Amino acid sequence: MPVNSEISVVHEIKSLKGKIMQEEKILVTRSSMPAYEEYIEAIKPLWSSHWLTNMGKYHRELEEQLKGYLDVPELSLMVNGHMALELAIQAFDFPEGGEVITTPFTFISTTHAIVRNHLKPVFCDIKLCDGTIDETKIEDLITEHTVAIVPVHVYGHVCNVEKIQEIADKYNLKVIYDAAHAFGVKYAGKGIGNWGDASIFSFHATKVYNTIEGGAVAFEDHKIYEKLYNLKNFGIHGEELVTDVGANAKMNEFAAIMGLCNLKHIENVLEERKQRFELYRNRLRDIEGIRLFKKNSEASDNYAYFPIIVEEKYQMSRDELYDLLRENDIYSRKYFYPLTSDQACFKNKYKKDRLDCARELAKKVLVLPLYAELEIERLEQILALIAKGMDD
Ligand SMILES: *Cc1c(COP(=O)(O)O)cnc(C)c1O
Repeated sequence: MPVNSEISVVHEIKSLKGKIMQEEKILVTRSSMPAYEEYIEAIKPLWSSHWLTNMGKYHRELEEQLKGYLDVPELSLMVNGHMALELAIQAFDFPEGGEVITTPFTFISTTHAIVRNHLKPVFCDIKLCDGTIDETKIEDLITEHTVAIVPVHVYGHVCNVEKIQEIADKYNLKVIYDAAHAFGVKYAGKGIGNWGDASIFSFHATKVYNTIEGGAVAFEDHKIYEKLYNLKNFGIHGEELVTDVGANAKMNEFAAIMGLCNLKHIENVLEERKQRFELYRNRLRDIEGIRLFKKNSEASDNYAYFPIIVEEKYQMSRDELYDLLRENDIYSRKYFYPLTSDQACFKNKYKKDRLDCARELAKKVLVLPLYAELEIERLEQILALIAKGMDD
């Protein structure tokens, strides 16, 4: 038991910390971390084993635990979400130059993973109601060169997985989901990673669950496990044989241990996020000109993001609201603007017409700060700024 003087020191530190936090910038997210002592205790065994990476004990342990948490039959841990997607695509050995139907309303990683596999992105429009790929527009884009569909469960919103599978079956295409935003989302009572031929998750520091940097591929076929094991380790097959042009995408043991610690607290993190998410939702839904996305009633929420759509009816534009928040040290993000299809690196190489809904959302969407430790007072300040707007 601490003596009284120790308690008062602790209180002083806490209130000082509170003051500093008040003056801090509010970013769109903040990484969840276990208690310092918990992590330090957990990494201690590494100083006796000296086994720091290369599919060590904690790598294997985290793979097992995440398989359970995500409710998927097979899972391969990766160094990050981007390499998870890049190698998941590579695992299917598509012919060079094959076309992949995807959406431009996503993080640049999705499009890069396709292009870096020497495949051609074919951009499909999205739906205004939730930002996911418009499944009614996919078939029009299919040609004899189409090999796969890479849809994105953007903001954790579930794509129309049944319809997408129907199309894939009809044309014999693979489906690889970018589920980087969809950690822990359940659909129709099952983990979201059960749809398609593979789904990738990101455990980057800014995501709802993190391993500092990290990611995973979920799938059903055990042969893909072996293929990915090989691809994430340079394609090495035993001491003298290299069978694939692989990469180095192994998660190290420090990251895996961070993941094991964070997984212990995930329910608490989700509960804290849920409270803030619901506060936003209840208070923003009646503001003139602010539209919220519609949730699929069969999907669970993971409270990863709180996107709003700033419609013309609102008293100012999305960019003006972004600036107003910024002037108040609140850093919202224009996820996703610009569309990936418009980025300089692609030099107008790929077709990007008929993306009307994607363009409209890119112009109107704003993601508000949301994380487990976001102080309710700061959240109230954000709400007040949005409600009062310019006259504040
Ligand atoms: C974060 C993210 C990725 C990449 O994941 P990293 O772990 O950062 O490499 C891919 N796709 C989407 C949609 C993302 O948000």
